[in-house]
Amino acid sequence: MIQGYDFTNRTALITGAASGIGAASARWLDRQGIARLILIDLDGDGLSKLDLSCEVETHAADVADEAFWQALEPRLGKLDHAVVNAGIGAGGQMAELEFAEWRRVMAINLDGAFLTLSTALRAMRKAGRGSAVVTASVTGLKPIPGIGAYGVSKAAVAHMARIAAAENAAHGIRVNGIAPGGVDTAIWNSPELEAQFAEHGREAVIGQMGKTTPRGRFATADELAQDIGYLLSDASANATGTVLTSDGGYTL
Ligand code: NAD
Repeated sequence: MIQGYDFTNRTALITGAASGIGAASARWLDRQGIARLILIDLDGDGLSKLDLSCEVETHAADVADEAFWQALEPRLGKLDHAVVNAGIGAGGQMAELEFAEWRRVMAINLDGAFLTLSTALRAMRKAGRGSAVVTASVTGLKPIPGIGAYGVSKAAVAHMARIAAAENAAHGIRVNGIAPGGVDTAIWNSPELEAQFAEHGREAVIGQMGKTTPRGRFATADELAQDIGYLLSDASANATGTVLTSDGGYTL
C-alpha cells in the first residue's frame, strides 16, 4: 500500500476537466476515493459525460471570466486541492503574431490560471492546508519556435506556481507545476493539423510527432494524471514550488 494517497474527505477543483489531462485527473482522483470534485470547463456537455462515483459539481464556464469566479468563491467553502489546467494551444511566430491572438492566449492560459489559482488559494487557506498543481508545458522551459504566445504563457504559469508556493508554504499549502511534453489529447486537433489528419489519420500523425520524443511516443492523459495525482497527494509532502517535467525525455 503506497502511503499518502488517501483522498477520502477531500475536495478538489479541476479546470479544463471535460477532456484530456483534466478529465483523466478527475477520473484518477475519483479512483482514489475523493469525496467531492468541482469541475469547470467551457464544454458543459463533456463534463456531464464523465462517469464518476464521487459527489460532482460541474460548471460550464470560461476560466478567464472574472465574474464567474466572483460568483463561485462564496460557495466554494474549504478546498483541499486544485488542478489549474484549462488551456488552449496556439501557433504563430512572434514576428507574425496578431496582438489579438497574443491576448486570446494570455487571457485563457495566464489570466484564467491566475483567477483559478488565486481563488483556490483563498479557499485552501480556509482549510488550513492544500495542494495545487498548475499545468505548464515543456514549451515554457525550452524556446520552441512557432508557438511563442503559448510558450510564454506556460513559462509564466510555471513561475506563478513557484511564487504561490513561496507565499503559501506557511499556510500549509503546496503549489507545484507539471510540464508535459506531447500528450495525446484533443488539444492537437488544430486547424493546422486537420488536413494531415484527413490524409493520414489522426493516430498516424500523432504517432509520427511522438517520434521526436526520446521515449518514442506521446504520453497518454492517464500518465499525466498519475504525475499530477502524486503532486496533489501527501506522498509529495516535501515538494513545493517545483515543476515536474513529464515529457518522455523531450527536453533532454
Ligand atoms: P484538451 O483540449 O483535451 O483539454 C483542454 C480543456 O480545457 C478542454 O476541455 C477545453 O474545453 C478546456 N478549456 C479551454 N479553454 C477554456 C476556457 N477558457 N475555460 C474553461 N475551459 C477551457 O487538452 P489537454 O492536452 O488535456 O490540455 C490540458 C492542459 O495541458 C492545457 O493547459 C495544455 O496547455 C497543457 N498541455 C498539453 C500538452 C499536450 O501535448 N496535450 C502538452 C503540454 C501542456
